[in-house]
Amino acid sequence: MNDFLNATILITGAASGIGAAAATRLAAGGAKKLILVDRDEDRLRGFAASLPCERQVLIGDVADEQLWAGAGLTGLTHALVNAGIAASGPIAETSLAEWRRVMSVNLDGAFLTLQAAMRALLQGGRGGSVVLTASVAGVKAEPGIAAYAASKSAVIQLARVAAKEGAPSRIRVNAIAPGGVETRIWTEVPMFKEMAEKMGEESAYKAMASAATPLGRFAKPEEIAEQIAFLLSENTGFVTGTCLVSDGGYSL
Ligand code: NAD
Repeated sequence: MNDFLNATILITGAASGIGAAAATRLAAGGAKKLILVDRDEDRLRGFAASLPCERQVLIGDVADEQLWAGAGLTGLTHALVNAGIAASGPIAETSLAEWRRVMSVNLDGAFLTLQAAMRALLQGGRGGSVVLTASVAGVKAEPGIAAYAASKSAVIQLARVAAKEGAPSRIRVNAIAPGGVETRIWTEVPMFKEMAEKMGEESAYKAMASAATPLGRFAKPEEIAEQIAFLLSENTGFVTGTCLVSDGGYSL
C-alpha cells in the first residue's frame, strides 16, 4: 500500500469524516507529510496527533484568502480539496445570505484551496494530482437543496477546467461525487437530525439510504477515502478531468 511514499499532501476539512479518513489512508500509504486544514481547532489538533507522519496543521476558514497567503505549501505533491457544509431548503425559501454562506465554503473555499494547490504544484515543476470532493447532489437534481447542489456542480466543472489547465504541467485534477456517507455533516440537516434523535444515528442512516439508494446503505468514510487515494495515486495516471460517482447506485 506504499503508493504515497515521499508525498506531501494538502487536505482540507481534515478534522472529520471523509477528510480525516483520507488523511489516515494517505498516511498509511507512506505519505511523508500531511498539511491538514480545518476550522475546528480542537478536533483537528486531536486527530492530527494520532497520525504516524510529519504533519502541519492550519486552523481557519478555507474561504479566507489570508489563510492561503501564509499556508507555505512548498514541496506539495497532492491535494484533497474537501472542506464543505451541508444545506437544505427550497429555492423559494432560500435567502441570499444562506445561498452565500453555502457558496462561500463549498465554492469560494474550493476555488481558493485549488488555486493555492495549483500554484504550489506549478512552482514545484514535478506535476501532481488533485481531487475535489463534490457530491452526487451536483450530478442528480433533487428538490430542496439548490444551494448545495449548485455549489457541487460548480466544483465538478472547476475540476474539469483545472484538469485542462494543469495537463501541460503533468498536474491531474479529478472530482469525486459521493452519495450518502456516514459523517457528522448529516447533523447539519434538520430532517436527519430529527430522525437520529428518534431512532439513533445508525438507524437514521439506514432509513435515509433504503429510501433511494439501490445498495441500501450509506458509505463509510473509509470507502470514499480509498477511492480518493485511487484517484490521487499513479494507478490513475491517465485519468484527469473526470468525476467518480460513488453513490451505491443513487443516481441511476
Ligand atoms: P464532516 O462534517 O464530517 O467534515 C467536514 C469538515 O470540514 C469538518 O471537520 C468541518 O469543520 C470542516 N469545515 C467545514 N467548513 C469549513 C471551512 N469553511 N473551513 C475549514 N474547514 C471547514 O463532513 P464530510 O461528510 O466528511 O464532508 C466532507 C466533504 O464531503 C464535503 O465537501 C461534503 O459536501 C462532501 N460530501 C459529503 C457527503 C456525505 O454524505 N457525508 C456526500 C457527498 C459529499
